Amino acid sequence: MPTASPVWNFMVPPGLVVFDLDFTLWDCGGLWIDCTSHPFIQTADGGVSDSSGRRFRLYEEAEEILDQLESAEVSLALASRTERPDWAVELLNLWGLEERFLYHEIYPGSKVTHFESLRDRTGIHFREMLFFDDEERNITEVGRLGVHCHHVKNGVSLSLLEAALKSFSKKV
Ligand SMILES: [Mg+2]
Repeated sequence: MPTASPVWNFMVPPGLVVFDLDFTLWDCGGLWIDCTSHPFIQTADGGVSDSSGRRFRLYEEAEEILDQLESAEVSLALASRTERPDWAVELLNLWGLEERFLYHEIYPGSKVTHFESLRDRTGIHFREMLFFDDEERNITEVGRLGVHCHHVKNGVSLSLLEAALKSFSKKV
């Protein structure tokens, strides 16, 4: 019997789910991606490292989370304040993830700008958005807009997704 997906348990699907990159979807060997050593290398075992041999890691349940949200027809977006958007997009492509996100807002500065752009591009209200990020400063700033923000401590996980969806359903 198939395992029930946490996505099926939520009553009100978000209009848009937005993810940060560094330490939310991936860990670039303990560094932010803009502090690593380019060029990146695809290793023989299918992994990715930087030119100094630092191994990059997509959090274990990240792809399953995207699968579940896509199966529920929830649109996906990225909001990253990295200083190297080109490296971030390259890494997304190395992992085959780039096209899974309908909207990319990847550039430095306060994420208020990123979310105002997402609202303008999608027509989706802040209160209908769910956001995952590992940094308190982003959670605080974006939370003030009315976006449902969830702090990620050790990378995204299915249990965190489920908790966020339940909480979202209760608040809207
Ligand atoms: Mg981050």
